[in-house]
Amino acid sequence: MFPVMLDLENRRCLVVGGGGVALRKVQGLLEEGALVTLVAPEAVGPLAALAAAGRIGWERRAYQAGEAGGFWLVVAATDDRAVNAQVFRDADDAGIWANVADDPELCSFHLPARIRRGELQLAIGSAGEAPFAARRLRGLLEQRLGPEWGEWLAAAARFRDQVRRLGLTAPEQESRFDRFFEATVDGENLTARVPTRAEQQQWLAAGPDERRVEPAATTPAPGPGPTAAAGLVSLVGAGPGCPGLLTVRGRRRLAEADAVVYDRLAAGTLPCDLPAAVELHAVGKAAGSQPVPQEEITALLVLLARAGKRVVRLKGGDPYVFGRGGEEAEALAAEGIPFEVVPGVTSGVAALAWAGIPATHRGEAVRLSLVTAHDAAQGEESLVRWDLLAGDEHATLVGYMGVAALPEVVARLLDAGMDPATPAAVIEQGTTSAQRRVVATLAELPAASARAGLQPPALLVIGPTVGHADRLDWFGRLPLAGQRLLIAAADDGLAFHLEDAGAEVVSVPLPLTPAARVVMAARPLTGCLVRRPDEVDGLDDERCSPGWGAEVVAWCVGEATASRARDCGWQRIEVLEEALDPAGLVARIAAGPRAASG
Ligand code: SAH
Repeated sequence: MFPVMLDLENRRCLVVGGGGVALRKVQGLLEEGALVTLVAPEAVGPLAALAAAGRIGWERRAYQAGEAGGFWLVVAATDDRAVNAQVFRDADDAGIWANVADDPELCSFHLPARIRRGELQLAIGSAGEAPFAARRLRGLLEQRLGPEWGEWLAAAARFRDQVRRLGLTAPEQESRFDRFFEATVDGENLTARVPTRAEQQQWLAAGPDERRVEPAATTPAPGPGPTAAAGLVSLVGAGPGCPGLLTVRGRRRLAEADAVVYDRLAAGTLPCDLPAAVELHAVGKAAGSQPVPQEEITALLVLLARAGKRVVRLKGGDPYVFGRGGEEAEALAAEGIPFEVVPGVTSGVAALAWAGIPATHRGEAVRLSLVTAHDAAQGEESLVRWDLLAGDEHATLVGYMGVAALPEVVARLLDAGMDPATPAAVIEQGTTSAQRRVVATLAELPAASARAGLQPPALLVIGPTVGHADRLDWFGRLPLAGQRLLIAAADDGLAFHLEDAGAEVVSVPLPLTPAARVVMAARPLTGCLVRRPDEVDGLDDERCSPGWGAEVVAWCVGEATASRARDCGWQRIEVLEEALDPAGLVARIAAGPRAASG
């Protein structure tokens, strides 16, 4: 068997058969950009849906002798061996590659089990003899190879480009590649890391007899793209708190970062798999400690960037919406540091969605105003025209930083003639497991909010669309809303099941990374789901995290896991049946602990 990797982009591929096996083959081909034609009289729902969406062409009929010849690659997966054999013969006669699922004799190629991390692919073949063995081996390697390998390969590709541009001899190139590999790959543990810019510059520069990379002589112009002299500062919006609301671009910048400077509001959105080598700097205001002054934050960003690092400045919501991102960008521009802004989902929009409040609504609210409510406490100095806002009935008014100033805001609006019966709400820690919502009339809101003891961060929302809050409370109705569950990361989709049921999931690699510890501590956990005794061992030391309070329920799958947790002195242990499927698991956790706590 001679292994190859085919480029299927825009190649015409034929799949014969409409069952589950055909579906998997079609999905695999589509992922690689193939143009797929399906020939089958009947097809399972997902295949029919792909055809209806125009993603594949579906010839709704039996296979006709000879037609395989018009394609580039052919796969047959019908349950009729005669048909499969015909397809194979037609393809083979036409010199086209053909594969019949689970029938090695009718194959001119086999599909290996594969592991994918970004552009990195490992293929495991058994010449069609024992696909089950290849699949199990794949499962084993899936666990051993972390997600960082994809980022690592991307970094290696960038490094190769840089090396090539130096115009070195082949041995000089190879010595640089060796350095990259030796410094970034831990062969014992099969882990890899993305090197820092500074490291790469050093490897590129190399020996005394070799040409050096000269640092840029002039001050780099502000704008994206790291240069030899200064790194890049990305002002990244982390979104409102729910980790899934970080943008794809923001996630990529974090994966590429050498250093992350994060605010408290953003701590819970750090990717738990950030390699330990990434510097983490907390600068936000935390309970009981002074915030780092703005000038110090800016100075830190400049320092890191001047050292050639890729820096992510991670800020809650959107960096430019009441986030002082403008001030940081101005300071970076003044210092000549290249920077970019990756917008985030601002809390003033996202928390409304999670609280059942449309930001605008036809015929009800035709304007959305985002204001700083803090400003209302500034007496006559206030820059917000509360008087004008009070007169705008068909609008949604969203006030940031509004908890302390709530009574002043309401007083100003009422003074200016706003209807005291206007629907209004306060949303605390919107989109997170700690979200709480108080809905009242404008006049009653300060008292209602005080009774509930709402604390920052919270938003005020005033306007007619707050009237939808109960009907549209999709989040509050999810079975696991309010749960913050710690699990050991695995590729089995369980985290998604729990998230879909409303839980905030902290999925941590074992052993834990520093970033995972920051995320754990960002908000109280409500539970920890452990599936095997070794997960108990891996998490045992983490029970001292500020996020792990006495209320954490230890959901243990199987008696062996529970017994290990008991031996380690864990509290509030709940034993889950090993046979539970994800839906059963969700229902069990939603029902709450059964055992007497303690
Ligand atoms: N740049 C951020 C806002 C920073 S100002 C953004 O775009 O969202 C800080 C204020 O934002 C807090 O006082 C609070 O009013 C609001 N805020 C941020 N996150 C919030 C959340 N998850 N729920 C409710 N309010 C939030």
